[in-house]
Amino acid sequence: MTDCLFCKIVAGEIPCDKVYEDDDFLAFHDINPKAPVHVLLIPKFHLPTLADADEEDSAMLGSMMNTVRKVAEDLKLDVGYRLVINVREGGGQEVFHIHVHILGGKKLPF
Ligand code: AMP
Ligand code: ZN
Repeated sequence: MTDCLFCKIVAGEIPCDKVYEDDDFLAFHDINPKAPVHVLLIPKFHLPTLADADEEDSAMLGSMMNTVRKVAEDLKLDVGYRLVINVREGGGQEVFHIHVHILGGKKLPF
């Protein structure tokens, strides 16, 4: 997807503050953090939203959660953290490449 911001980050066309990378996923600091730690985890292939996933994406979605745990361990978020996935416009999604927000670094307000 040539006009997707996060695909451009995966391709190295736009820089990011990377915290984790493997063959399938990339995690980087959010440019506009809403918590002391605010990292975005994305798959390296383009899938616009969680609502566009299907059964064939089950393994990727499970793997994404395992990767969240690895990233959280790397970031030493031992006391806990919050995951947010905004889905489509009504859910506040602005970048249409599926991503998990990993928020932590302080006791988060409800
Ligand atoms: P969402 O509203 O769930 O689509 O979240 C998109 C997130 O991407 C927002 O929290 C933005 O601050 C973040 N963002 C936008 N552009 C960049 C960028 N170039 N590098 C890192 N984070 C970004
Ligand atoms: Zn994309």
